[in-house]
Amino acid sequence: MIVIVGAGLAGLSAAFHLNGVPYRLFEKEQEVGGLCRSYQLDGFTFDITGHLLHFRQADIRALVEGLLTGRLQKHIRRSYIYSHQTYTEYPFQVNTFGLPPEVVRECLLGFIATLTTPASTKSPEERSFKAWILENLGEGMAKHFMVPFNEKLWQVPLDELTSDWVSWLVPKPELKDVVNGALGIKDKAFGYNPSFLYPSQGGIEALPRAFLGGVSNVHHGCELIEVDTARRRATFQDKCHGVRTEEYDTLVSTIPVPELVRRCTDLPQAIREAAKGLRCVSVYNVNLGVAREGVSDKHWIYFPERDYPFYRAGFPMNFSSALGPPGCSSLYVEISHQPTDVVETSVLIERIKSGLEKAGIFRRDEKIVTADVRDIRYAYVLFDRHRAGALPAILAELEAKGIHSIGRYGRWEHSSMEDAIGQGKRLAERLKSPESARAVRA
Ligand SMILES: Cc1cc2nc3c(=O)[nH]c(=O)nc-3n(C[C@H](O)[C@H](O)[C@H](O)COP(=O)(O)OP(=O)(O)OC[C@H]3O[C@@H](n4cnc5c(N)ncnc54)[C@H](O)[C@@H]3O)c2cc1C
Repeated sequence: MIVIVGAGLAGLSAAFHLNGVPYRLFEKEQEVGGLCRSYQLDGFTFDITGHLLHFRQADIRALVEGLLTGRLQKHIRRSYIYSHQTYTEYPFQVNTFGLPPEVVRECLLGFIATLTTPASTKSPEERSFKAWILENLGEGMAKHFMVPFNEKLWQVPLDELTSDWVSWLVPKPELKDVVNGALGIKDKAFGYNPSFLYPSQGGIEALPRAFLGGVSNVHHGCELIEVDTARRRATFQDKCHGVRTEEYDTLVSTIPVPELVRRCTDLPQAIREAAKGLRCVSVYNVNLGVAREGVSDKHWIYFPERDYPFYRAGFPMNFSSALGPPGCSSLYVEISHQPTDVVETSVLIERIKSGLEKAGIFRRDEKIVTADVRDIRYAYVLFDRHRAGALPAILAELEAKGIHSIGRYGRWEHSSMEDAIGQGKRLAERLKSPESARAVRA
């Protein structure tokens, strides 16, 4: 028997692709979807922060387009950075046109200086993120965007982070593109998501729901509380039926790996300690509905400056007008925080309101018709030196015991919905292979 824990996209995709192989899927919440859930409030549909679909893998794109045939809309990205009281297009490094001339000059000269600096000989796991920024983008871009923005997002000094995750998220431009961007000349799209897809109705939850057509045996309200890895027994707290124990041949876990290891009571102490040292930041996702149409014409905006408490704000009704009542707008706003720090909801909303007013997005008399705060406990995992050393050993120990830890927090990585679906699919294909089946029988 295969036991899957967590019905986010990774767990749903694993179940969906196991067709024919017996499994049971356990989810602690009443609904499936994990981070890709949506909810209704006062006539608005909100996601648990902005969730937009972009693809690099043809098979996953085809799968999602098949699951949501006729229900996806394509959008050409309208994402901006707000700094020096100016909007510039994302990504910053190739779009400095419009900023004060001395800022553009610092960015250009800093970037040009990187072209003659010898490349680092350190591996990405050894080189700090701060060093990567300075080596690849230069002093000016570091000062005016990369460092303040990333410190706000990660909540730690950037020399504590490694650079082994940056390659696809932070594109390194060519000189021609940086110069064109400083002069306002556009001849190509940049970044990993120049366009994206989004469901026309129902929010992003339309995607996990679509998987349910090919998934059975889902047990809602069942939280994994303990795993006996030697006996291959997983114990769940079932909201309706109390404690239940499941025997498994293979356990597929998509819950955060530190949570999994903490529940595996018989793992070596060194592994348990290594998992405790994995760090992440949490995000307050504040969803707002306002009684005014078109508060912004953009999809989302990054805020690097300290004057604004949030690092990003987005406008869901610009992806799908069905997400709110006519004559209204909705926003999602994101504020990173240390998992141990708690800010009261009313304080958060006040800070956000005044930040949005300062940025000229809200008017002084803006009528907020609904406001809701969700705390995403595990939002962004920190790629630090501890992770680089500890994670491979943790995952190898789990695999040796028949436990596959997958998904964004199972692999403890910075990955997308597409990656979560892809990991579930590929693991299911592996588990269906004849060798795997023989190993399970043995
Ligand atoms: C702020 C933010 C913005 C993002 N924006 C985008 C975006 O625009 N585009 C994009 O592609 N990706 C985005 N992502 C990433 C995307 O959300 C994830 O890659 C994807 O949702 C991960 O799916 P998953 O199944 O791995 O994990 P999850 O969605 O976390 O699913 C894990 C499941 O396990 C369940 N669970 C946890 N503990 C237990 C337990 N003990 N017992 C039983 N069940 C348990 C949870 O309830 C959950 O349902 C964003 C992520 C964040 C944090």
